[in-house]
Amino acid sequence: GKMPEYLQLKQNMQLLDRSGLPNPFFMVHQELTRDTTVIDGRSLLSFSSYNYLGMSGDPAVSEASQQAIAQYGTSVSASRLVSGEKTIHGELEQAIADFIGVENAILYVGGHATNESTIGHLFGPGDLILHDALAHNSIIQGAILSGARRRPFAHNDWQELDDILSEIRHEYRRVLVAVEGVYSMDGDFPELPRFIEVKDRHRALLMVDEAHSIGTMGAHGRGISEHFGIDPRQVELWMGTLSKAFGSCGGYIAGCPEMVEYLKYTSPGFVYSVGMPPGNVAAALASLRVLEEEPQRVADLQARSRLFLSEARRVGLDTGLGNNTPVVPIIIGNSLHALQLSHQLFQRNINVQPILYPAVEETAARLRFFITSCHSEQQIIETVAAVAEELGKIDPAYLAPA
Ligand code: PMP
Repeated sequence: GKMPEYLQLKQNMQLLDRSGLPNPFFMVHQELTRDTTVIDGRSLLSFSSYNYLGMSGDPAVSEASQQAIAQYGTSVSASRLVSGEKTIHGELEQAIADFIGVENAILYVGGHATNESTIGHLFGPGDLILHDALAHNSIIQGAILSGARRRPFAHNDWQELDDILSEIRHEYRRVLVAVEGVYSMDGDFPELPRFIEVKDRHRALLMVDEAHSIGTMGAHGRGISEHFGIDPRQVELWMGTLSKAFGSCGGYIAGCPEMVEYLKYTSPGFVYSVGMPPGNVAAALASLRVLEEEPQRVADLQARSRLFLSEARRVGLDTGLGNNTPVVPIIIGNSLHALQLSHQLFQRNINVQPILYPAVEETAARLRFFITSCHSEQQIIETVAAVAEELGKIDPAYLAPA
């Protein structure tokens, strides 16, 4: 209890303690979370999970998962390299690659582990990793693990990236540029064609983390490449997670066959870790099939996301960088007020998570809404109205026209 790091944690938690409000973290959800969730036996509208397409809890997906468990058991009980390989692993990898429009893919048991292990393994001393300033922790951890030089560039700023590369590219062997398809705190996305042009000109590799864009962007949910209509083979490393739009758990890297083969034989998080459990593989595979048969889910998700954003702006809420993706930030700029607002909404049967200092700067404290294809227009309109009303009670200045 005397570890300085632990004391720092307790220090950070003082805001919670002093506020007298219930702790919003580790809240227990008792059932499936989609447009609604159950907490303390009470049903609430949910904007707190990334079950973007309602695949977790979908009867066809659950059924496929149960069948796979009946056939293969609950664990593959070995690394795939040495006897853990089941029929459905390769099927899912090929289905993901085909869906994205590249040649092959490799699965990892976790999304975070995918980034950490892949980046940590493909790069090393003498290499350079340039990542967006708002890149996810898993990208940064991978870069640190690699031992390469790591440097952020300003959020979405491909011009600054170009400048940095012009200045220092020649000092390094291999260079990685890492961006995300949709940024999970801010709900915006990069101008991918610009990044492709810049990395090609400087002979760098590009990795796009599609955790929040696969299944959510583009007419068929094929992600940010479909959104921009670019050839997916122009990006060396497509990364994504199975824990969001695909209702499962795990991650993938999709790209050229040589890259995938090299990772399958050498990537530590793959070689020295158990293969993905059958139930999770089958759930992701079934989600892909459902998505291909029901692209309407993507259209619904995109329409609801646009509705939430436009309603929020109409009533004068600060939506930050939000850009018609299923992640909508409502910037408050005061951790205590963000905490209070989330509590007041909770009492009105709306569950949304506050993002407080030090997760973001104090001036960027916010509520973050995750939209799903399961939400109705009515649920969204009512929610935005409730947010504005409750925020106005905290301080009417928040709703002043900009
Ligand atoms: N990348 C990004 C951008 C993420 O937001 C997340 C997690 N939310 C991950 C990777 C890690 O994925 P997982 O939660 O499936 O491990």
